[in-house]
Amino acid sequence: MVAEMPKHHWPTLPETRAIPGLLADVPRRLQEMPDRAGSVAESAAPFVPAAPHDLDTLRAALPGCRGCELCTDGTRPVLGEGPVDARIVLLGEQPGDQEERAGRPFVGPAGQLLDEVLRAAGLERSALYVTNAVKHFAHRVEVTPHGKRRLHARPRHRIVSQCQPWLDAELALVRPAVLVCLGSTAAQATFGPSFRLLEQRGVARSSRYAPVTLATHHPAALLRSEGAELRAELRAAMVHDLRRAAAAAGQVPLAPSHLVLEPELIAERLLPTGPVTHSETGSVAHGSDRNRRATVE
Ligand code: SF4
Repeated sequence: MVAEMPKHHWPTLPETRAIPGLLADVPRRLQEMPDRAGSVAESAAPFVPAAPHDLDTLRAALPGCRGCELCTDGTRPVLGEGPVDARIVLLGEQPGDQEERAGRPFVGPAGQLLDEVLRAAGLERSALYVTNAVKHFAHRVEVTPHGKRRLHARPRHRIVSQCQPWLDAELALVRPAVLVCLGSTAAQATFGPSFRLLEQRGVARSSRYAPVTLATHHPAALLRSEGAELRAELRAAMVHDLRRAAAAAGQVPLAPSHLVLEPELIAERLLPTGPVTHSETGSVAHGSDRNRRATVE
């Protein structure tokens, strides 16, 4: 280090101020290490109740999960919330700092922005089931002169996969008609690690969780984006995608420009007010309003 930085600069380095706090924490961390190494499993599967009949059973079992290393961070896991018969599920990445403290998903700044975007798309949060791909808060701790801060750290693919049995169990109970993945972590948990949000955003297709599944931006991406123009662009894309999801679930009137689906995804259960008919061009008309159409992308 002397070769990198002369000693007389050391006292003014921001990192130097963190050293006393880190040293003071060493005995506790050393004591915890053997326990941690021996008690973490390879997957959440052994901790998920077999064939749970309701979300409360999952919620009660979740704190006992030791399916990945995040269980050793001293944070509490957060299950999804919302009506179990919701037709639309929103899937995020993981709880953040405020969500972990509140024990509820999407209650921090990103959650407030999500509520606002949902309203712009004609959706009410209370009608949706909202959850995350990873149930614990993956983070790193930054020591500042004013104390410690927990900063978001993107969960690795391995952790997303280790946590997936919880998501499988949740969505097996909710059985949504439409799943909206918020951000690339949620989309990769659903479609696989090769999914690329910038290339495949807004494209509706079937998935293991719902007959209509599409990905859009995570509200945190809007918060992090620099410049009003980019933020407006991301927000408009999100509103557009959520409106299509709402249309697919039959929760807002269909508009030709909003519903673009593969024909095999248009099923009676998605458009519940009447029978679906297919034309030779692949467009469909539904029930009492034959003028409402879904076009093939
Ligand atoms: Fe279990 Fe998921 Fe938490 Fe890991 S993140 S400990 S798998 S609940």
